[in-house]
Amino acid sequence: MSGAPNRQYRMLPQLGEFVGRDQIQQLLDTYPADLVTEASRRVIARLRSHLQQGVMADEKLEIAIEQLADSVAAELAKDRAQSLRSVINATGVILQTNLGRAPLGNAAIRRIEEVAAGYCNLEFDLASGERGERGSSIEKLILRLLANERSISVDADAASRSALVVNNCAAATYLALNTLAEGGEVIVSRGELVEIGGGFRIPDVLRKSGAHLREVGTTNRTRISDYAAAITPATRLLLRVHRSNFRIEGFTERPSLQELIHLGACASVPVFEDQGTGCAVHLNEYGIDDEAYWPDSASSGIDLVSCSGDKLFGGPQCGILVGKCTIIEMIRRNPLYRAFRVDKLTLAALEGTLSTYLDGDRESLPVIRMLAMQPEEVQRRCNRLADALRSSALRAEVVATRSVVGGGTTPGASLPSFAVALEHLSMSETTVAARLRGLDPPIVGRVCDRCVRLDLRTVPEDQDDLLIRQIGMEFNGSSKLEE
Ligand SMILES: *Cc1c(COP(=O)(O)O)cnc(C)c1O
Repeated sequence: MSGAPNRQYRMLPQLGEFVGRDQIQQLLDTYPADLVTEASRRVIARLRSHLQQGVMADEKLEIAIEQLADSVAAELAKDRAQSLRSVINATGVILQTNLGRAPLGNAAIRRIEEVAAGYCNLEFDLASGERGERGSSIEKLILRLLANERSISVDADAASRSALVVNNCAAATYLALNTLAEGGEVIVSRGELVEIGGGFRIPDVLRKSGAHLREVGTTNRTRISDYAAAITPATRLLLRVHRSNFRIEGFTERPSLQELIHLGACASVPVFEDQGTGCAVHLNEYGIDDEAYWPDSASSGIDLVSCSGDKLFGGPQCGILVGKCTIIEMIRRNPLYRAFRVDKLTLAALEGTLSTYLDGDRESLPVIRMLAMQPEEVQRRCNRLADALRSSALRAEVVATRSVVGGGTTPGASLPSFAVALEHLSMSETTVAARLRGLDPPIVGRVCDRCVRLDLRTVPEDQDDLLIRQIGMEFNGSSKLEE
């Protein structure tokens, strides 16, 4: 040991004795014993290492020792804050990847509850009593939804198409490229060599899949003739990637999906679209133009389409592949499918989400409800929140703002909305934002113009009172909510 004199080291409590103290014992009401012991060990060790690093006055050390129990409590609270918790998303970003993307609808939650606690027929055919195919019931629901949306007969479609569910769209795309194009060439437009976020870059995924990238066209213009000219005997696939998170404006050109499909058919090269969003509603009904509609892609005669389950579709995290039966079967037989397949809880949630669509009840899905919410409705709720929170210390104004869909889905598009802008007399906006995140449940807002903005479009209405209570108690010491 070095630094402090031995006498000071001897002032530190022994772990066994320390853990027996009343103050520490009280923590056992809230936390498991092993966590309390572990946190105590860390806190004492930290003080010891302070002593090693330099001289500390006896009085200062005594104070630090007196405060050890508080430090343990703070340490435990910090650990708990880092566990997975539900938070209130008041950012106005409907699909926020950092906040878990799509909240699930009630049907999906019910299905998870039903399946989670016991056994289920995940890969078991109840009619024959033999092994069944994972996801076989889901496949029928996906095809039915796509057929309904396009007003075509399910039977016509089901004969030639099937579907497969994997862990996410990145896995679906990787699996598709690896199955269809390993060792061969994939033709893709330079305008679609995108990075989706979280390190998902199309050129990197292609390389890892064992396929060779053949870029055609330019960033802003690619013609069908560019694809045609690049086809050689080594070509395995024509790839189309949805420009999820950016827009190219001005002097631009891109062949239609139909042109690509036609070219693929003539050259006997399959066409695969990474559609991404899984959007199964017409977004123009909600004031957002120009958004690719998943059922259009999936039923266009294309060979294969991938999309996410937890973006605009509003379901659990998963990747959905829809395509020609022969292609889906090849993918299912790829040994890597085993590494990417989904679990029973995901299938249960996806089934619940699909039945919500099939029952014509899509606006009960949180994502669709938030898209559909009228700005006047958000404004009415903001007025109530601001009136209840406004005090001599806290300014609360209702301001017009724009909500965005997010999650890499509708670049540049936004929805008119309203927010409560909070400004505290003596705290900076970053402090206010941090205090909001420290509440239980944490509230995540957006810092903007020296205020913290809470856009209520992304907050479930039944949590308005919770917000009023928690924020009121935190900044005004009371809540104006009549109980
Ligand atoms: C979001 C997105 C992905 C990645 O989807 P995950 O489900 O997050 O893996 C891939 N491709 C496109 C076009 C996307 O928009």
